Amino acid sequence: MKFFKKTDLIIIFGIFIVGLALWAIFTFSNSSKPAKAEIYYKSELVATIDLNSGVDKEFSIPQNKNVIFHLTKDGHICFEKSDCPDKICVRTGMLKNVGETAACLPNEIILKIVPLTTRGDDELDMIVG
Ligand SMILES: [Zn+2]
Repeated sequence: MKFFKKTDLIIIFGIFIVGLALWAIFTFSNSSKPAKAEIYYKSELVATIDLNSGVDKEFSIPQNKNVIFHLTKDGHICFEKSDCPDKICVRTGMLKNVGETAACLPNEIILKIVPLTTRGDDELDMIVG
């Protein structure tokens, strides 16, 4: 007794393999690109969070205790809670990839994902500053 036709099995197997391959590519590309999160308050960098630390924590910045950030073990970060009226920052959800940003405009807080190694930029900032 056969539940599947041979072609069905091939298609199912194919989808499975493609899914597995995509998952592997995502996992690999994420782990090969270490990222950190930067938190800006009134366009000033106030906190830098290593996304690869493997810790799960909720925290806030000293400048505004009403805005709570959440860092997860797998290196995602988001605005967990905020006292702002629009809640756009909270609704942005989890960030994990370099280049993603979330902002709380009423509180003037920006959360940014950047590559972990930006030594060249830091040196440049020091010369300018
Ligand atoms: Zn907000």
